[in-house]
Amino acid sequence: MRNVVIIGSGPAGLTAAIYTARANLSPLLIEGWQSGGQLTTTTEVENYPGFARGIMGPELMKDMRAQAGRFGTEFLTGDVTAVNLAQLPFTLTVDGEHTVQTRTVIIATGASAIPIGLKNEARLTGHGVSTCATCDGFFFKEKELLVVGGGDSALEEANFLTKFATKVSVIHRRDKLRASKIMQDRAMRNEKIAFIWNSIVEDILGTDVVTGARIKNVVTGTSSDISCSGVFVAIGHRPNTALFTGQVDMDEKGYIRTHHGTATNIPGVFAAGDVQDSTYRQAVTAAGSGCMAAIDVERFLETTAHNL
Ligand code: NAP
Repeated sequence: MRNVVIIGSGPAGLTAAIYTARANLSPLLIEGWQSGGQLTTTTEVENYPGFARGIMGPELMKDMRAQAGRFGTEFLTGDVTAVNLAQLPFTLTVDGEHTVQTRTVIIATGASAIPIGLKNEARLTGHGVSTCATCDGFFFKEKELLVVGGGDSALEEANFLTKFATKVSVIHRRDKLRASKIMQDRAMRNEKIAFIWNSIVEDILGTDVVTGARIKNVVTGTSSDISCSGVFVAIGHRPNTALFTGQVDMDEKGYIRTHHGTATNIPGVFAAGDVQDSTYRQAVTAAGSGCMAAIDVERFLETTAHNL
């Protein structure tokens, strides 16, 4: 029987681990098959306080994991495939095989990239379609690329891809970007970046690998084909909450509802990071709420320990 199990290994989960470990709660952190969350697929993180010259996302996560380990966090590599939060102790099933019982749970499963939803997008994923410039940009030396989206992610991907590509076109469904001013300015200054406004991707073209995209101007209604060797989709994220459907209260978009800090509708179950935050979605806010969840768990255990 554990005091606390943390599900997820992004900034929220690892910060919760650092705090619960230092509170002598001997946390178990179930980290998935790929540790580190979304920051492992980003490049330079320039807005995480404490790193005046910036830090690479994967390096930041490696250090956070080492910090959590230093205070005695136990890590389990694998995916939680089922949860029973209806009775105490809570039961978590890992990879469909073994179960873990715990007094409290911190859900920090984060969010995942949203696909456009095209048939050929799924078929050509890994063959020119990607959601991760850091992972795949290297394969597109001297090629022309398309980035879909108008937020910070899209511009960050586009900027990074210009290290390899000859030209990167950002296609956005409106004529105004959602991205922050600093990211916009940087992209506008980059000579390799072009913008295709008021347009969406209707289809991705190519038999074995991406050769182009069919795009539609939503103002004029006209469609045209453009050639490119890769399509990077950066149109936002959705929370990874399918596992908790029907047990934990969520909003209409699937984000876990929290109140009084990180409490969910189930006493003893807490949620931190992007899984419960559709507004801020920053590494530093995720880490902050991971800290809050750890303190909430500590207080919960202090007040309810005699009942268990
Ligand atoms: P986002 O801010 O939600 O932007 C998503 C973009 O994709 C929007 O421009 C949206 O268009 C477009 N879009 C959504 N659905 C679409 C669809 N079906 N077809 C075509 N376009 C679609 O998501 P994000 O860029 O991933 O950023 C998420 C959060 O992380 C934000 O808070 C952002 O500031 C943060 N972030 C920060 C950094 C940084 O500071 N370095 C880097 C990356 C992300 P509309 O604009 O028309 O809605």
